[in-house]
Amino acid sequence: MSDAPEQVGVLIVDDEPRIRDGLRRVLEPMGYRLALAGLGREGLALLEQEDISIVLLDLQLPDINGMEVLRTICSRHPAIVVIIITGFGTVQTAAEAMRNGAYDLLPKPFEPEQLRIAINRAREKMFLEKEARRLQQDRLRTLADLSLEKSRTHTIIDALPIGVMVTNALGEAVLFNPTFLRYMALPPETKEGAPLGAYVHDDALRKLILEFSQGCHIGPDDSPTYEFSVGEDRFLFARGRPVLGKRGECVGAVVTIVDITAMKVLDRLKREFVAKVSHELRSPLSTIHEQLAVVLSDLVGQVSPADEHLLSRAKEKTQGLIALIGDLLDLSRIESGIVCETPKSVNLEELLENIISFLGTKAAAKKQTITLSRASEPLPPIKADPLALESIFGNVITNAINYTPEHGHIKLLLSRTATHARVAVRDTGFGIEERHLDKIFERFYRIKNERTRYITGTGLGLPIVKGLLDAIGGQIQVDSTPDKGSTFTVLLPF
Ligand code: ADP
Repeated sequence: MSDAPEQVGVLIVDDEPRIRDGLRRVLEPMGYRLALAGLGREGLALLEQEDISIVLLDLQLPDINGMEVLRTICSRHPAIVVIIITGFGTVQTAAEAMRNGAYDLLPKPFEPEQLRIAINRAREKMFLEKEARRLQQDRLRTLADLSLEKSRTHTIIDALPIGVMVTNALGEAVLFNPTFLRYMALPPETKEGAPLGAYVHDDALRKLILEFSQGCHIGPDDSPTYEFSVGEDRFLFARGRPVLGKRGECVGAVVTIVDITAMKVLDRLKREFVAKVSHELRSPLSTIHEQLAVVLSDLVGQVSPADEHLLSRAKEKTQGLIALIGDLLDLSRIESGIVCETPKSVNLEELLENIISFLGTKAAAKKQTITLSRASEPLPPIKADPLALESIFGNVITNAINYTPEHGHIKLLLSRTATHARVAVRDTGFGIEERHLDKIFERFYRIKNERTRYITGTGLGLPIVKGLLDAIGGQIQVDSTPDKGSTFTVLLPF
């Protein structure tokens, strides 16, 4: 491929009109745009005015020496291809012409075919040179774009107020920003390129970053997070995403780190405040409750039924408040990690039997049955705080009783997996609509409908259960069908 002849301007510089005419007669039918000059100066002037790509130059000119013209063309218009036409085609002249920048030499007299070949070859060369120049420019532009893009990206990443680290598929740190270094308590001059351990000292975080980098967590929602602390008083939150290559393969990871110290401090203050207020309220409320009970029993038959109803309602309400305060205190104890500190060996079957007999009266009042179906083989004991286990199952079974209508059935099924004991608490109650399922573990979340309206509760039972299970490494799952019943399954590690 090369430019079409019509796009190529050819200048003929020869003092002999006969030669100029002969060349024109060959080149014009080929389609070239022609310009003719009889003198060297004339030729050089035409070069400034016309768009010329090829020059056919005679060395014997009446005004200036042809070699001189050649040198001027090559220095002023380096892209022009010059073919020397001369009647003195000696080897010496040829060598000198080439040295001065000529591309080809055509000794006179020459056949039209020779001229055609020479001119086409010159056109080809011209095209190739043009292409080479274009490619070179493209390359320079791409490199410039790239380096601009790179420095832009660096500037943005460096200015981010969150810590950023980029790893390759081997989990090596290839890029990080100053915030990352500050969060990790590393000197600001720390350079990339060392193994991950040089930057991340927390073992679990390092393991997680390696997993991200090797593509263990590819998936739209599969983005594990990790909370950790550096030193005494800085709390950080890390999240990672794998970086995928063109074929979907994992080529590394981007890990972002956020400072959550302020949130943690606020959370602690809030917890302390709630604990303090709850604690201060508990004794006066209990006193009011007891005194109301005494007043109520003393006044039987002496006050109007309406007043008695009012007093009973007041007693019930204080009972509800006492329960709420108890739950709040439990939650704050769980959050500050002061439960499950003294694990003991617990026989789960015995523990469940005790709870069933304790809650049996409540169930009997609603004419419900509670049964326990034992595991086919004896379970190994569970190592946990027995009070925590009592609270977990107490809450789940109380819910089953509360949210199951009269004459319903509550069944506890005890079984095991290779690593866990499994207790399924199944009821034939109201069930829970799917949209509430993951919300019922949030604090104060209660499902409000016609059936639950008159059931008192705090909305803190399941958050307490979840908090305790987190503390002892257990899990809870819910499976429920509205109007059929629910199954809360608790898994406890052996
Ligand atoms: P509370 O029972 O004090 O309202 P929980 O945190 O124990 O608070 O439960 C939250 C909500 O989950 C309840 O209000 C109830 O709507 C729903 N729930 C819990 N257990 C069951 C169950 N077994 N059957 C139906 N709904 C339930």
